Amino acid sequence: MGLTIGVDIGGTKIAAGVVDEEGSILETSKVSTPPTPEGVVDAIADAVRKVSTGHDVEAVGIGAAGYVDDKRATVLFAPNINWRHEALKDKVEQRVGLPVVVENDANAAAWGEYRFGAGAGHDDVVCITLGTGLGGGIIIGGKLHRGRFGVAAEFGHIRVVPDGLLCGCGSQGCWEQYASGRALVRYAKQRAAATPENAEILLGLGDGTAENIEGKHISDAARQGDPVAIDSFRELARWAGAGLADLASLFDPSAFIVGGGVSDEGDLVLEPIRKSFRRWLVGNQWRPHAQVLAAQLGGKAGLVGAADLARQG
Ligand SMILES: [Zn+2]
Repeated sequence: MGLTIGVDIGGTKIAAGVVDEEGSILETSKVSTPPTPEGVVDAIADAVRKVSTGHDVEAVGIGAAGYVDDKRATVLFAPNINWRHEALKDKVEQRVGLPVVVENDANAAAWGEYRFGAGAGHDDVVCITLGTGLGGGIIIGGKLHRGRFGVAAEFGHIRVVPDGLLCGCGSQGCWEQYASGRALVRYAKQRAAATPENAEILLGLGDGTAENIEGKHISDAARQGDPVAIDSFRELARWAGAGLADLASLFDPSAFIVGGGVSDEGDLVLEPIRKSFRRWLVGNQWRPHAQVLAAQLGGKAGLVGAADLARQG
């Protein structure tokens, strides 16, 4: 199979791209994400039509946040778009006249990294995406592990703290409450409020108040040596690395790939994650250690991965 289209449905934008067999994006198109489920289907179809003009395209892969069924056809539930048992595959196929595969967005991103990014040379890979929340994907023996019902690798909602912080999912103490972009901002706000003398750079980048600290301020401040910003990244990394050690007990991969906006900071966050991972890895002196690698494809991983999964059929 030659060219396929990957579609990445984000909270604000829907991106579609024509992708070749090497994972290169030949052409892209972006539209705003409409507020209604029907509008989203129309927008996907429009983006696919627009981007496929002049290309001989054979299939479409759609990466969507939410639970996607084992047939890769129906979004059972989505947190950001009001989808409840949405037959996305059928609806888009009817509009674009091409075979469609629907995949969870974190699974698609994991597949993209495995095939064309940081996963090169590995067959057993576990990916985590540290974005606003925490997503995940599992590749075992070169195959994406979806689980019987299609909803495996929802790592963000593993409970790591009994009776811990309330989570948007309705549970308490979920991993993403401690290891995610949102958690990072919370750490920085708490620390800056408690010890403003250690957050002068960080507070200077915003309006001077702890409550209005934003993620991008924390990155900039950390690079400039702000103690609170650096310590906030370390706290996030401590939780992320400890969680990876638990995932090593479950999946024993040869590599973990850490993606998402937070991982854009590179070794500032990756090094403390590796340290925490080694610290909490059971029997760490006596076993091989999985590598902890930074994702390479950035925000394109989901689109490229979805296109490749459509190619695999
Ligand atoms: Zn949760």
